[in-house]
Amino acid sequence: MKNSDQARLLTTRHEREFMYLRDLSARVGGDPLLVQASNGNTSIKLGGILWIKASGKWLAHAMQQEMFVPLDLAEVQESVQKGTNIGAHYALNDDLYPSIETAMHAVLRHRVVLHVHSINAIAWAVRMDGPDQLKERLDGLHWQWIPYAASGMPLAREIEKAVAPALETDVLILGNHGLVVCGPDCYTAETLLWDVERRLAIIPRRFPKPDATVLAMIARFSRWQFPDVDSLHALGTDAVSRKILKGGVLYPCQAIFLGPMMPLFPPALVLSKFINRLKGDGTTPPFVAVDGSGVMLREKMTSAERATLIGLVQVTQRTEESVRLRYLKEAEVTDLLSKGAHGYKEVIFMEENEFSDAWHH
Ligand SMILES: [Zn+2]
Repeated sequence: MKNSDQARLLTTRHEREFMYLRDLSARVGGDPLLVQASNGNTSIKLGGILWIKASGKWLAHAMQQEMFVPLDLAEVQESVQKGTNIGAHYALNDDLYPSIETAMHAVLRHRVVLHVHSINAIAWAVRMDGPDQLKERLDGLHWQWIPYAASGMPLAREIEKAVAPALETDVLILGNHGLVVCGPDCYTAETLLWDVERRLAIIPRRFPKPDATVLAMIARFSRWQFPDVDSLHALGTDAVSRKILKGGVLYPCQAIFLGPMMPLFPPALVLSKFINRLKGDGTTPPFVAVDGSGVMLREKMTSAERATLIGLVQVTQRTEESVRLRYLKEAEVTDLLSKGAHGYKEVIFMEENEFSDAWHH
């Protein structure tokens, strides 16, 4: 998106709102309890144009980078009705592809739509009893629970169906996924976002301290390192977190960035059977959690994997053992991982590489 294009498409009044959206996006994107890496997306509808975050971009960088793609709203809505692919049709010259969630933003009538992977919202959104639990917490708000649907057209259709009889709906809890908050302007949407966050807040469980003995042995392999974020160790030291992760995949980003199987090992296995796997070949997981010991990270872990892992531990530390969880079904995980091949994940990897090149050279 060239600056001249932006100037052509925005009037002065619209430009102010657009700048507010960028500022808000950067603040929301900079909060690891709301957004991890490139997930989350924001949009505003101004004068018949839908400005939507580009796929793979990090909201946190919204003030430094151009990342909003202008789309003709009526055309996008028509694509949604016809079920045609939005991303391919609207790809711009400069490699900004509209977010995978563009259809969702288009079917919601509100001018401003904020979609975040709120840790607190996800901790409720993976619970079987989530809809019941939230009745009291979100009382008085126009909210709805949307059962899990794959990102893109399937999710947009579920949302469209759910809000049709209740157009005032401005809060959506997306099952096994996250949160959507809407408003007539950025200020109203932001105020509502913080209200919802306050209502959904859960205090994370404390966890036993890591035991460095086994971790130090893993650290001898040059490709592994101790995490610089202490809370990550909970995946190894906290029995409840381990049990939750053994159950399966809770939400899409977990499978996309950390794999469908969590690498949780008892100490004895780490030191014998798995020692070769830990040397760091192509199939090495981005992290390894050792029962009772803690967590080690692969040295070349990408920043997206790291952010996702930090988010995951925040979710498990907010989830109690007694709660029944709704894990993604095997077919849902397979579907997700096959989609990774067109667009979603490699855009992120491309950026990671650009980033590390810029960093190292
Ligand atoms: Zn999402």
